[in-house]
Amino acid sequence: MITNIVTATPEAIARAGQLIGEGRLVAFPTETVYGLGGDATSDSAVAAIFAAKGRPSFNPLIVHLPDIHAAESLVLVDERARQVADHFWPGPLTLVLPRRAESPVSLLVTAGLDSVAVRAPDHPLAQSLLKAAGRPIAAPSANRSGAVSPTTAEHVAESLGERVDMILDGGPCRVGLESTVLDLTGATPAILRPGGISRERIEALLGPVTVSGEAADAPKSPGQLLSHYAPRAAVRLNAPEAGPGEALLGFGEAPQATLNLSPGGDLTEAAANLFAMLRALDRPEFTGIAVMPIPERGLGEAINDRLRRAAAPRPTSGATP
Ligand code: AMP
Ligand code: MG
Repeated sequence: MITNIVTATPEAIARAGQLIGEGRLVAFPTETVYGLGGDATSDSAVAAIFAAKGRPSFNPLIVHLPDIHAAESLVLVDERARQVADHFWPGPLTLVLPRRAESPVSLLVTAGLDSVAVRAPDHPLAQSLLKAAGRPIAAPSANRSGAVSPTTAEHVAESLGERVDMILDGGPCRVGLESTVLDLTGATPAILRPGGISRERIEALLGPVTVSGEAADAPKSPGQLLSHYAPRAAVRLNAPEAGPGEALLGFGEAPQATLNLSPGGDLTEAAANLFAMLRALDRPEFTGIAVMPIPERGLGEAINDRLRRAAAPRPTSGATP
């Protein structure tokens, strides 16, 4: 297969930064999943991201930055935001903050909201690319909308192919789940999407936070569509065993599992394996994927969120959202 995957040499990173500057698209690794990056200040680059993903334009994008200082010209950074960033950045935590009136971020990035989601990724290649590009990079996960997120360069090539100009290969992603999205625009911090930083860790710093339910919060975080992260195969949750023809995705001791997220019951390991294993079991020889129960604590909250969306009824139009 001809692909546009390139080894991330310094020359390749410089070229990738140049491509971003020209309004082209570059897929790059972060610690969470691979991102599909484009110039966040360019309407045409951002429109190209939505087109390449087949993503509904009401679903806003996360803007990637080197650090909190770089955020100051885009969003209003108050004491609380600074404290959270000091603690968790660079890392898998996205902050939703009020947009500055003079913010150079394309209005398409935010789908018309008066807030912007920003994050500093904890991955040397992502940081090098940000530096080479010298501008904020808008980047959703580098897959077709609604499908399972990519945690390797090969996953990106399978999903997006020639729709992306370059794929920087940085090996498998360490965390393997998307960032936690934390809304800091209100009096009480609100988790709009569980992810790579657990609620417990955020609450240890900030005190109680609210966690949004799915449908009720649709206007606040339009990206939280119910069916998402979905393999082609039907997914069945909290399954003690596989039904006829099903693959079994195990957790904890389970010799009967087709694949096991973590035989030792480790949630960090399970998170890192989740998307790659869902892909690996998404094969026509199985009638579906049965998933064993995952405890609802720590990273388990984010894992179960993704699994519920993978198992949710699909839109009837045939296309995923
Ligand atoms: P993705 O980058 O595809 O993993 O998804 C980004 C997530 O962040 C989606 O769930 C978006 O709805 C959410 N998001 C991005 N910007 C905002 C914003 N300004 N307000 C609320 N949620 C946002
Ligand atoms: Mg995504």
